[in-house]
Amino acid sequence: MKVYLNGRIVPEDEALVPVTDRGFLYGDGVFETMRAYGGEVFMAGRHMQRLQRSASLVGLVPPLDEDGVMEAVWETMEANGLRDATIRVTITRGSGPRGIDPTLEYTPTMVVLVWPFSPYDPGLYAKGVRTIIASTRRTPASSLDTLVKSCNYLNSIMAKAEASRAGAFEAIMLNQDGFLAEGTICNVFFASRGVLRTPSLACGILDGITREHVMALARGLGMEIREGMYRPEELFDGADEVFLTSTSMEVMPVSRVDKAKYKVGPLTRALMDAYRESRP
Ligand code: PLP
Repeated sequence: MKVYLNGRIVPEDEALVPVTDRGFLYGDGVFETMRAYGGEVFMAGRHMQRLQRSASLVGLVPPLDEDGVMEAVWETMEANGLRDATIRVTITRGSGPRGIDPTLEYTPTMVVLVWPFSPYDPGLYAKGVRTIIASTRRTPASSLDTLVKSCNYLNSIMAKAEASRAGAFEAIMLNQDGFLAEGTICNVFFASRGVLRTPSLACGILDGITREHVMALARGLGMEIREGMYRPEELFDGADEVFLTSTSMEVMPVSRVDKAKYKVGPLTRALMDAYRESRP
C-alpha cells in the first residue's frame, strides 16, 4: 500500500510517524473514514466539513483546507490504483514540546490510508446482525464534544470488546442518563408503530453522515421520522425493526438486541434499497 504522509506519497513501510507524535502519545488528533464507489468518494464534501469541524473543536489547525485534503485523497487512491476503497484521513497535532499543553507550537501530521473495499458478508444484510446493549456508557459531550471524531476511540473500543465477548457484531451504548446513544462506530435507528426513530444529537452522539442521509431518504419516501431520547426498553417493547448506519456498513439490519429479536422489516428494506440507489 502507498500512503500519503505530510505531502508525500510513500510506500507503507516508509510511512513513519515520530514516536513523539501526540496522536500516538495521547490520541490527540481527528479523523474521517470515507468510502469510494467506482472512483467517486461518497459525501466527500460532508466528510471534509466534519474533519475541519472536528479539528476546529479541539483547536487543531489542519495543514490543508478541505480541497487540499481531498487532493491528497485522490493522489493516494491513484497511487494505489483503487476505485472501490475505504479511505481514512488522520490529522494529529503532531510533535512538539513535551507535555499535554496544546497551545504550544506543534507541527500537525496528516496521513491518508486507502484499502480495497472489503464488503460485509451479504448474509448479514439478509438476516441482520446481533447486538448487545453495552455496560460501557458513551463518553458524555460535557467531557468531550461527541461531534469531534477524535483519534481516541477507547470508549468505543471498550464497548466493542463487550460485544465481541458476547459473540455479537456490535454494541449499542447508552448515554450517562441511560438513553440510547449510538453504536461503537455507527448510529442506531428503530421503527415502532410505523414511525422511524433515532436518538437525537442531544443524546451525545456523532452526527453520522449516513444517519443524516438516511433521514433525508426516509423523508423522501414519506416515512415519519422522529429524533428523540429513547430508553433501551423501547427497543425491547414495541420496536419492530432496528438497524445501524455508517459509511462502511450503509444500512445494516439488526436481528437481535440482547434477547429481543427483529425481522428485517419493510422500512429497513426500503432504506437499504434507497441508500444503494442514492450512492454512486
Ligand atoms: N458514531 C460513531 C461513534 C462513529 O464512529 C461513526 C463512524 O465512524 C458513526 C457514528 C457513523 O458515522 P458516519 O455515518 O458518518 O460514517
